[in-house]
Amino acid sequence: MGALDIAWNVRNGITSAVDIVEEHLAAIDAREGEIHAFNLVLADEARLRAAEIDEMVQKGDDPGPLAGVPVALKDNLCTRGIATTCSSKILGDWKPPYDATVVTRLRDAGAIAIGKTNLDEFAMGSSTENSAFGATRNPHDTSRVPGGSSGGSAAAVAAGFAPISLGSDTGGSIRQPAALCGTVGVKPTYGAVSRLGLIAFGSSLDQVGPFATDVADAAVTLEAISGHDPGDSTSIERAPLELRAKLEMGAAAVRVGRITDLPAGAGPDVQERLDEAFDALAAAGAEIVDVEVPAFTYGLTAYYLIAPAEASSNLARFDGVRFGSRVTAPDTNQMYMATRSDGFGAEVKRRIMLGTYALSAGYQEAYYGRAQKVRRLIANDFSAAYEQCDVLLTPTSPTVAFEVGAKTSDPLAMYLCDTYTIPSNLSGDPAMSVPFGTGADGLPVGVQVLAPALQEATMFRVAAELERSQA
Ligand code: GLN
Repeated sequence: MGALDIAWNVRNGITSAVDIVEEHLAAIDAREGEIHAFNLVLADEARLRAAEIDEMVQKGDDPGPLAGVPVALKDNLCTRGIATTCSSKILGDWKPPYDATVVTRLRDAGAIAIGKTNLDEFAMGSSTENSAFGATRNPHDTSRVPGGSSGGSAAAVAAGFAPISLGSDTGGSIRQPAALCGTVGVKPTYGAVSRLGLIAFGSSLDQVGPFATDVADAAVTLEAISGHDPGDSTSIERAPLELRAKLEMGAAAVRVGRITDLPAGAGPDVQERLDEAFDALAAAGAEIVDVEVPAFTYGLTAYYLIAPAEASSNLARFDGVRFGSRVTAPDTNQMYMATRSDGFGAEVKRRIMLGTYALSAGYQEAYYGRAQKVRRLIANDFSAAYEQCDVLLTPTSPTVAFEVGAKTSDPLAMYLCDTYTIPSNLSGDPAMSVPFGTGADGLPVGVQVLAPALQEATMFRVAAELERSQA
């Protein structure tokens, strides 16, 4: 049962939230051993909250649009009094003193947190193999990765452990695992969803967004978490997004852009599904227009200067003084060094070194400064393309899920997973992945729908048409 069906049943007293939670805990018991989607399952907390929801319904109170819906939370979202690890050793057993705004909003909408999901350490990676607590496996084939960095959240939804989950997306970390696990995954417009309580990776790129089994469930979840938050200075002063009203409108007369100068790299299976997606939208009455986005191809390069630069400064706070683990040493400097050497994994150290280099005196203008200019060009090129079309369609991931271990010794190969997702983080525009058939070895393929800032309603409308065309 999807999130909207669960909520309808719970609100109308047809199913109890307690039963819903037990069903999902049983699903977790059955397969979590082979998948490892979670760092922590909140069984007791979920049962207690479910009983509260059922009590509200009995009293005639409405628990909200996500009443009784289990939700899995990426373990870089702060949960009050509950360990939040970022899948890193350095946070030790640190327990945040507050909830992330998105966590509070989901709770206020009636959802039930069922667990904290595994990720690449500090959200740096594309396979969830960079976790200090071991890799997550793809529920469709456990010899494969689920994608990353929100691989645990994608796998939890794909395995039926929770109908919805939250991830974070700095360069593709929601959309790429969604594609590899056959779920819907959304990166909202930068500033549409609060980052308060999301442990920062690249502050100018990070956004929280939902995973779901279908477009309507993703819509109701994003509606619940979006809207202005005075606690996040980059939060846009707007009411929550309204997405469900337009879902049934179809794609008639929508102008769908095909990027003719898209960087190469997508496999033939992915390319075929994308072509079929264009055909499906054309059959539904959409107008397909060819557009150019010349700077798209420089996205990856600019991102690997900007994101590490921001990460190196954000991660400076993990110094053994304020958070989690500390390795004792004869003096403060040695303590910092020992704590950080022991606490961070190899990929995080690589990013910190790349970032401090890109920001160092004498190089800052050549690297970080230039990357910022490229970022502006990408945003400008998208704006120009959106004068000719309402949405753009691209592959999400160049390939289907790959084997565990296939890219761990080749960082560049891993980085190339995000060729098609990174540009919208740099521009701040929304983008989402919708499952669209299968590719090599019968594994899921995702198609990416991109839209101008705050045009999520149109993006969801097109995504819903893509979903409908496969029914
Ligand atoms: N895979 C990209 C990286 O490693 C994106 C990660 C993300 O979106 N958090 O940086």
